[in-house]
Amino acid sequence: MALILNGLKVSKDIKNEIREEVEKILARKRRAPHLVAILVGNNGASLAYVNSKIKDCKEVGFRSSLIHFPSTVSEAELLEKIDELNKSKEVDGFIVQLPLPKQMDQEKVIMAIDPRKDVDGFHPENFGKMALEMDTFLPATPFGILTLLERYNIDTQGKHCVIIGRSRIVGRPMSILMGRKDFPGNSTVTLTHSYTPHIEEYTRSADIVITALGDPHFLKADMIKEGAVVIDVGITRVDDDSEKGYHLAGDVDFDDVKDKVSAITPVPGGVGPMTRAMLLKNTILAYKTSVYND
Ligand code: NAP
Repeated sequence: MALILNGLKVSKDIKNEIREEVEKILARKRRAPHLVAILVGNNGASLAYVNSKIKDCKEVGFRSSLIHFPSTVSEAELLEKIDELNKSKEVDGFIVQLPLPKQMDQEKVIMAIDPRKDVDGFHPENFGKMALEMDTFLPATPFGILTLLERYNIDTQGKHCVIIGRSRIVGRPMSILMGRKDFPGNSTVTLTHSYTPHIEEYTRSADIVITALGDPHFLKADMIKEGAVVIDVGITRVDDDSEKGYHLAGDVDFDDVKDKVSAITPVPGGVGPMTRAMLLKNTILAYKTSVYND
């Protein structure tokens, strides 16, 4: 029977640890860490993500604020708000929920964030530091996967890790982190994408497969080797006849692979809750550097 890497449980442990840290901070009569989320427009999924981040902040005792702009807001106004947050001594970290409306230059907006407050870890300065194995904010999803591997003590050293998907927020940073000289890390990494021919030839030789492509049930049992560790990042809404009208599906055909793998993350309850917990972790890191180093 495969080991289920229970992201929901580990994320609760991490949140408890953060809450204890916040209680100690408050006992010293310091202000609570403060995370700000900027949302532009009314995209349903983005709204749900931002609301869950605000809820997580409450759970651990952080202060949180939501700045909600209409989709018609100008790029200049958004940049002005970012500048204000960059300068605010009351704000430790902030995120700009992506995607932004088409009239915005996403690169320019990300570049405007002070890297010291970039708790999403998307700023090129932080991405570069990550690549150079310097201390920095790691993007939340790869950070969550690393933490899950670490807490379950999954051996990654000398293993062949195949990553499917090369997005800036998951696949590409994950490939760098699995290849770093550390634990978890020290893997030999293959980064695959939609131009990789015969992807199964790579996945079949993998000790660890990390899927982040957004294609429900893409990874089947005949694509992996016996005893592989499988990390499923994918979350896709699939319409069904349930009351909700949909369910969430991962990139892995869980039922097909479950008897062949040695360890696997479920969807939901695997990488998703870990991602949420790691944003809190980055925020408390930002807090410590902004307040304690004053
Ligand atoms: P993305 O930006 O949509 O990128 C998808 C990547 O998958 C691209 O690199 C693409 O290749 C590659 N790809 C697509 N079809 C492929 C195929 N048939 N074979 C091999 N590679 C293929 O993805 P993302 O933002 O990383 O998200 C991926 C999935 O993870 C989505 O379901 C998303 O909802 C989910 N997600 C989950 C979390 C979480 O916390 N659990 C966080 C973030 C994302 P090209 O580069 O060649 O186009």
